[in-house]
Amino acid sequence: MDALSYRHGELFVEDVPLARIADAVGTPCYVYARNQLISAYRAFEAALAGQGLVCYAVKANSNLAILATFAGLGAGFDIVSAGELERVIAAGGDPHRVVFSGVGKTAAEIERALACGIKCFNVESAAELERLNALAGRAGQIAPVSLRVNPDVDAGTHPYIATGLKENKFGIALDEAAGLYGDAARYAHLRFVGVDCHIGSQLTDLRPFADALDRVLPLVGQLRAQGLPIGHIDVGGGLGIRYRDERPPSVAAYVGQVRERLLAHGLADLSLLLEPGRALVAAAGTLLARVEYLKSTDTKHFAIIDAGMNDLIRPALYGAFQAIQTVRDPGAAPGADYDVVGPVCESADVFGRGRHLHLQAGDLLVVRDAGAYGFVMSSQYNSRPRAAEVLVDGGRFAVVRARETLADLWRGESVPGREAV
Ligand SMILES: *Cc1c(COP(=O)(O)O)cnc(C)c1O
Repeated sequence: MDALSYRHGELFVEDVPLARIADAVGTPCYVYARNQLISAYRAFEAALAGQGLVCYAVKANSNLAILATFAGLGAGFDIVSAGELERVIAAGGDPHRVVFSGVGKTAAEIERALACGIKCFNVESAAELERLNALAGRAGQIAPVSLRVNPDVDAGTHPYIATGLKENKFGIALDEAAGLYGDAARYAHLRFVGVDCHIGSQLTDLRPFADALDRVLPLVGQLRAQGLPIGHIDVGGGLGIRYRDERPPSVAAYVGQVRERLLAHGLADLSLLLEPGRALVAAAGTLLARVEYLKSTDTKHFAIIDAGMNDLIRPALYGAFQAIQTVRDPGAAPGADYDVVGPVCESADVFGRGRHLHLQAGDLLVVRDAGAYGFVMSSQYNSRPRAAEVLVDGGRFAVVRARETLADLWRGESVPGREAV
């Protein structure tokens, strides 16, 4: 399903013309297609067929309206901070369906998660296990735990988004994890309920997932043989999407393969937890911007737009490709090759190089597939207020995060000796 389509010569998100949103809300702004979010979620839910839980990785896009959409469908959530936990609760999500990942959980974060009765702590080190055991004891609770195992597989993705190699900071090596599970009796305030692994992001090949499972599942079998009641395997997130010409597996193929590996290891009864982020939200989001200037040098044409790397950093940070197209249907009009750039004072502030577009100053354009790791990674760098966010639902739209004002830029700041400004 593609929420973006040209109708009557202009680009729509679902049944709303993007030009109408630009008029009402201004640019730059993020636009999310609610029905596309729902269909992406339903694909995971259908593939799981009731034998597990989809825990949406909140960090991909944590807007309350997005979280509320998934909460309304019965989703679980994968969080990496207390802030994400509070967002889930504020959006109406069920804390009993929350799993808590991350290498640096503070005592305060753990205490809050214990008080909320979350589903599972995905523990990433022996030291964290000690801390969790002590805090659960103090709270008079038994904390549900799975260890995040690092299977040491090469996910074949960008090094910044690979997490399953020995040299990464994430997870616990297999042999060490086996030792910690073996010591379960030492942790009086923990219950070891699962095994967890997450190997990276934007994976477009099934092989690394299978490799990871083939390393991790024997551990599960071994733990069960020792009498530990391991009830779930959490395979993390990481399923990629098509930004340009990638051919990621379908959700059904991905989950099908996980099931096949469970079967092959005699573990078909395990409950399956998935933590998709990007695969649920990336394609449903669009960054809408306006061309401020066209500028040509001897060798290049530039389109300078009113969005910058502070709004969407993926192209600058990872060299990521995201498709760019005009809101006006170019039809057969001749175009030119443009470097589409932002106003930020950094040479990395480039959304795309050599993109063939038919453009005039003042035109609206979109950077596609911006629903994941878009707004959430935005900043105010260059003192640029963060963009508005809009949710489209069929023929209606609503602002789900107001554009920041200039005064928001210095909220909380002060000059010693002076009255508040
Ligand atoms: C980031 C992350 C995810 C989501 O990754 P995607 O590539 O967006 O699916 C899931 N689990 C953990 C532990 C993560 O850190």
